[in-house]
Amino acid sequence: MNFAFKAESVENRPINQSSRQYDNFFLHGESTESYQHIVQQVSEKLAEVMNKLEDPYSGKSPSSLYQELNKLSVFSYEGESIESLLKDINDTLLMSNIHIAHQKSVAHLHCPPLVSALAAEMVINAFNPSMDSWDQSPAATYLEQEMIQWLLHRFGYDSEADGVFTSGGTQSNYTGLLIARDSFCKKIFGVDVQKQGLPKQFQRMRILCSEDAHFTVKKSASQLGLGEESVVSIRTDKNHRLCTADLNRKLEELDKEQLLPFALVATCGTTDFGSIDPLSDMAAIAKKHGLWLHVDAAFGGALILSHQHRSKLRGIEKADSITVDFHKLFYQPISCGAFLLKNGEEFRYLQHHADYLNPEEDEEIGIVNLVNKSVQTTRRFDALKLFFSLRMVGTKQYGDMIDHTLFLASSAACYIDGMVNMKVINVDPELNTIVFRFVPSVSDTVDLNQVNRNIQKHLLYTGKAVLAKTTIKGEVCLKFTLLNPRTKLEDLKEILADIHEFGELELEKWRFPV
Ligand SMILES: *Cc1c(COP(=O)(O)O)cnc(C)c1O
Repeated sequence: MNFAFKAESVENRPINQSSRQYDNFFLHGESTESYQHIVQQVSEKLAEVMNKLEDPYSGKSPSSLYQELNKLSVFSYEGESIESLLKDINDTLLMSNIHIAHQKSVAHLHCPPLVSALAAEMVINAFNPSMDSWDQSPAATYLEQEMIQWLLHRFGYDSEADGVFTSGGTQSNYTGLLIARDSFCKKIFGVDVQKQGLPKQFQRMRILCSEDAHFTVKKSASQLGLGEESVVSIRTDKNHRLCTADLNRKLEELDKEQLLPFALVATCGTTDFGSIDPLSDMAAIAKKHGLWLHVDAAFGGALILSHQHRSKLRGIEKADSITVDFHKLFYQPISCGAFLLKNGEEFRYLQHHADYLNPEEDEEIGIVNLVNKSVQTTRRFDALKLFFSLRMVGTKQYGDMIDHTLFLASSAACYIDGMVNMKVINVDPELNTIVFRFVPSVSDTVDLNQVNRNIQKHLLYTGKAVLAKTTIKGEVCLKFTLLNPRTKLEDLKEILADIHEFGELELEKWRFPV
């Protein structure tokens, strides 16, 4: 009696009527028309903007761009149409971006995204699967696993290995060092760090990596409770590769001081020079000393697709764990990376059972919940982007693209080396970065660091080119990161001519100070 009464009163409420008005906001039933309309408007607008943008950057100064953005309203009370919104953001959010697909956007490890991946993003975003538990991503879970299997195979791992997609190199490096730390503490001290925290000997634990390793090694050490000072820096040789003689020397010193090295990080593609540490030699040293070998191949890992340079990765299969990024040389939209683990069992150091998400009974019936392998919970289905790209572009063209950018880098290094007033720091680039400097012969009073800094700034604020700067042994240098396979030597020659021209103008300032 009571029950019937309740049911009736619920039915009488006009909930169904009023919820209709929200239909247009979701991709479902009748609202698919509204979805298609919005997507079409956006895609037409993007095509229009990309065709209109002539330079890699609008050239707007930070303050003028800030002021423009400051005027933009971040909400509308009544809501508005896509047309009105696109119109309002045209000059700022659309026309004032770095045009990353432009041939003269050559600054960072920041890639133009493949169109195949942009299409995959639409699918990912529409279903919005969450990779933490199987019941939020049934098909997606298995595809991610398949993509991981493909990667493990390509990197030379066997069937014991496992892996997971990550938000990028930072998270992959962190995960590798976390597992290295916990596996060491378990083996050496019998301490379960997850439950008991760090053992009392933690202040003696050490991580080794080259002085050119990525800063996220130190950042991970600090987040892992070991502190940045637990990272021992190993010297590099003239090609910016880790020097194994210095590594052996440092290991002896640590031994004398009764310190406890437990992890060695090799870099496969350093940020400035793209240099690749001697992987096989380091693997042998790691084995001898019982160290966990983590290879940070965020940048260089893409060579698994190269036709000509794949052998540079020789030895990587001996690593205990590997970082690889797809939002760099694999041309994926941000974010997309993976963490690979030689002995998949060791993911147990990350595992926590939450009754609502990954109960142990799931494992009994063969359901995989990928949260068990990740430091994230809710996680994007980024594996689909790589899948679309590998299928649509094909591994042949993928390899050709990567090889082309390496060829471009070596041609450009050779060209710059032949220019007057220009010095190339890495004449024979390992991957596709070139570090160089404008070095006219001038009196000591001219600050060439300032001149080089101003050249980079000038090119950005005139919108002529987006290039990077870095400091090598106290000298400010300019840097090309040549990820874009559409960039030609001609484009670089134009940038170099601009550098020269503007550099000469800068020198005038020093000759005739105002
Ligand atoms: C880019 C990069 C990282 C950091 O990766 P994110 O994807 O930016 O988090 C770490 N190591 C190396 C060598 C890199 O090139």
